[in-house]
Amino acid sequence: MPRIWNRIAGVQDDLKLFDIDLEELMVKKIGAGEETMFWLDRWIGDSTLKTSFPEAYKLERYKHCKISDRLQNGDLIWDWKSVPRTLESVSEIALLVSRISDFQTVQGNDKWVCTLASDGVTCFMWRAKLERIPTACALLKRGIRITSPICSYCKNAEEDTAHVLFRCSMAVRVWEWVLSWCDLQNIHFESAEELMAFAAQWGSCEMKRRVLISICYGTTWFLWKARCDWVFKKLRTSLAKVVDSIKSTVFLWMKYRRKHCTLQWIDWCINHFI
Ligand SMILES: [Zn+2]
Repeated sequence: MPRIWNRIAGVQDDLKLFDIDLEELMVKKIGAGEETMFWLDRWIGDSTLKTSFPEAYKLERYKHCKISDRLQNGDLIWDWKSVPRTLESVSEIALLVSRISDFQTVQGNDKWVCTLASDGVTCFMWRAKLERIPTACALLKRGIRITSPICSYCKNAEEDTAHVLFRCSMAVRVWEWVLSWCDLQNIHFESAEELMAFAAQWGSCEMKRRVLISICYGTTWFLWKARCDWVFKKLRTSLAKVVDSIKSTVFLWMKYRRKHCTLQWIDWCINHFI
């Protein structure tokens, strides 16, 4: 079992209690395919091959076989219990072959990767600071015709970066929650620049500061995601959902980054500056 998975597998059930699916947050990046189960792990497509191709799976002799057992030098090596005969099994195998025909293993270990990398969020933060995220106002400035610059979530003001991330009703409530969770009183941010400057010089412990930076950056990212889900899918994300996403994602970043991390989900929820 890969190290990262060892570190976080213990919290899977805890997270499920909060309706957070760890498997949605983590994906497998395949190296040589020696540590990933061909049928039972999710490594190609949105579900396991067992779920996608149940008839073919029934015929597999070794249900726990690894990718490297079935894919060798670009060739597929099957080991069926009996020759596939039924129409369902034959057509499933044909589909399965086409799904993995372009897949190639590479040298190295298989790794679990957080679907939302902290580097990506840092990059988002910098773009927000430079007013380079596609808000309604930013689009208008670039000459892109949109129906209105007004925020479609609260309908109270023009939608620029500061509005989406700090002033919109959802943002205000999320920040209230996050700042109180971090035990930071009487703090209020008006811009990405202000937030970054505050987090960068906060406190005297480097490790705690990094946790705070992750929480703050993660918060802006999930506020932006909630805004996009509303604008493009008409989905109103609840405050609880945004908060849970922030807590669980930053928790995984911590687990992933720190070696020998013994941080437990329940402790994290109560006091994250451990
Ligand atoms: Zn708004």
